[in-house]
Amino acid sequence: MRPVIGIPCYSGRREGTGSPLFGNNQTYVRAVQRAGGIPLLIPPHQDAEALEAICSRLDGLLLSGGCDIDPARYGEEPIPACDTPQPERDELELALAAWALDAAVPILGICRGMQLLNVACGGTLYQDLAIQQPETDQHDHSATIRTHRAHGIRLQPQSRLSEILGTMPYDVNSLHHQSVARPGERVEIVGWSPDGVAEAMEIDGHPFALAVQFHPEELEGDVEHPDEPSRALFRAFVEACGERMAR
Ligand code: MN
Repeated sequence: MRPVIGIPCYSGRREGTGSPLFGNNQTYVRAVQRAGGIPLLIPPHQDAEALEAICSRLDGLLLSGGCDIDPARYGEEPIPACDTPQPERDELELALAAWALDAAVPILGICRGMQLLNVACGGTLYQDLAIQQPETDQHDHSATIRTHRAHGIRLQPQSRLSEILGTMPYDVNSLHHQSVARPGERVEIVGWSPDGVAEAMEIDGHPFALAVQFHPEELEGDVEHPDEPSRALFRAFVEACGERMAR
């Protein structure tokens, strides 16, 4: 038996025809599969009964990257640099995050997923680092290849993530323009870029709720050039999901 890991979808449009679709990047799906998990994509628009049925079948939750969370979710008015929100995705992911936090189900947050987890815990975000934290370096390298290692990260010794990711310094990709501002309840920031932006966090008192601002699913590499730290992160996550399934 292998653990089933839910991955919420975003709403998009098919190129050419423009017909609406739900989906997510293959890199998340493949990273979970490579680590031994069974990915299950979850579309939005779930009523309470449907959500409960889905949750009862999940052993873990992967919160992926994507567009900005509606600032109203953390009590702010949007600034112009903030993306048009996807309210149905916010709704689905916040509900799933609340469930996984409460039920001690393993969570891995990536990019938007880290921000979502912080908002789910009552924290706030910088809506745009370049505008609200102008002294920081550029973190939005989405115009270049997704594997571009833009900056190093420093992890708090003895944190779960420093145990998993191993020897520092670790150079990561950076495809974000937002970041955690005020950490929410039980949120502990455990990783920073050289300019002080929050790049990794953990939830106190939860068996496995880790999140990173970079994209390990893009850094995993191929058979000849594997990136051991990012693979180790997915392995640790799937292992935690397997332990949860066994309970
Ligand atoms: Mn960054």
